[in-house]
Amino acid sequence: MEECLFCRIIRQEIGSEVVAENANAIAIRDINPQAPVHILVIPREHIASLKEITADKCDVITDMVMLINELTVSEGIVQTGFRIVINQGEDGGQEVDHLHFHLLGGRFMRWPPG
Ligand code: 5GP
Ligand code: ZN
Repeated sequence: MEECLFCRIIRQEIGSEVVAENANAIAIRDINPQAPVHILVIPREHIASLKEITADKCDVITDMVMLINELTVSEGIVQTGFRIVINQGEDGGQEVDHLHFHLLGGRFMRWPPG
């Protein structure tokens, strides 16, 4: 059994605020939000990083994107805009080795990110 943080959250061994879910993915509020809307979209399956994505994972990626589409409407940011981020590896600032999209919105997003 995977001991990673997000696997434990998915198994409900660690509490989180689940805001949406479907067959292959769940969405939870980030514990340390960087914007008024900061949601993590996480595949139920343990996928360590983007590097592990192959053609047979297209259902997982589709479900992650479907959740983002639902959330931008339910969180009221579909018109104002939002940012989707994957932090990958050391230089990308990845802290949790279980693939996830950050969905950020509710404020203006500067560019380039820090
Ligand atoms: P990463 O840097 O790996 O892309 O992002 C990991 C994210 O997970 C961070 O934004 C961090 O605030 C969030 N996080 C870390 N631990 C927890 C937790 O226990 N619960 C929730 N909801 N988010 C967490
Ligand atoms: Zn995991």
